[in-house]
Amino acid sequence: MRPDTPTTGGVRLAVQELRTHFELRRWGFLRAGSVQAVDGVSFELAAGEAVAFVGESGCGKSTLARTLLGLHRPSAGQVVCDGEALGSLSGAALKRYRARVGYVQQDPYGALPPFMDVRRILEEPLKVHGVPRAERAERIAAALAEVRLAPAADYLGKFPHMLSGGQQQRVVIARALVLAPSLLIADEPVSMLDASVRVEILELLHRIQRERELTLAFITHDLSTVRHYASRVFVMYAGRIVEEAPVDELIDRPQHPYTQALLAALADPDPENARRERPIPAGEPPSLIAPPVACRFHPRCPHHMPGLCDVDTPPDFEPRPGHHSACWLHR
Ligand code: SF4
Repeated sequence: MRPDTPTTGGVRLAVQELRTHFELRRWGFLRAGSVQAVDGVSFELAAGEAVAFVGESGCGKSTLARTLLGLHRPSAGQVVCDGEALGSLSGAALKRYRARVGYVQQDPYGALPPFMDVRRILEEPLKVHGVPRAERAERIAAALAEVRLAPAADYLGKFPHMLSGGQQQRVVIARALVLAPSLLIADEPVSMLDASVRVEILELLHRIQRERELTLAFITHDLSTVRHYASRVFVMYAGRIVEEAPVDELIDRPQHPYTQALLAALADPDPENARRERPIPAGEPPSLIAPPVACRFHPRCPHHMPGLCDVDTPPDFEPRPGHHSACWLHR
């Protein structure tokens, strides 16, 4: 670890029956339903733990991330951070919470203001959160060094379009770190990058998480990489968590049919099989405006039991110690 790396320590996070719904209105005022983007999600993260939230696009994982950031107000349930309920915070307390949460977006180019150079991009959060001017240059240089953009003088005057995709994402990570957060939320941080730099960025995030002992929530659609940086995995489907387990246990012994389908759809080293189209899994993810009743996966599930899976919502079963799956097959 570099001697100047701040070891901020992570936060404990408890999320209880969280719902984030978005109301749809016709002609601006008539209620026309709601998008149930996150619907009854509960989990706990220990301080310094790195976890992954996995699922197809539209499963609600990015809305969950934005709710944890305090950018969406929950429709129900709560997020408790180190014993303090996020919903009870406002004004200065909410601002302090946001300073404790770093956010790494999916699209680095879109995340960086094109008219600001790297110095201004990194200085902006320090200004907003009242860091004295005399400290700012040192903190900016330390953040750039931490993401391996050194010497800082080579990058401070550059605008986003002058940087490669990997360098842009390093600046986004530096901006997320410059306020010394305790919780880092990374939302598909490598999905828009070339394959050649993805591993570098994943390794960088993993190293920073361990060195700073941060709590890390990693949002991804890619189960193939989670073993490298997460100790636990939550699988989301249609706004709900359907499976949760330690990473090796989940990948080696998936219990929920949806997770099994996701793993089966990962690239096959056999070129003959890789050439074949393999849906992930068969069928489309459901609309979150009118999701299927009971088990939301039942229209796509090869094990669907009519009269049960489409009538009653499966509770959380624990088919193996520490391994949770919301599926009637475990009853
Ligand atoms: Fe499939 Fe039924 Fe399990 Fe849902 S509850 S995943 S439909 S077997």
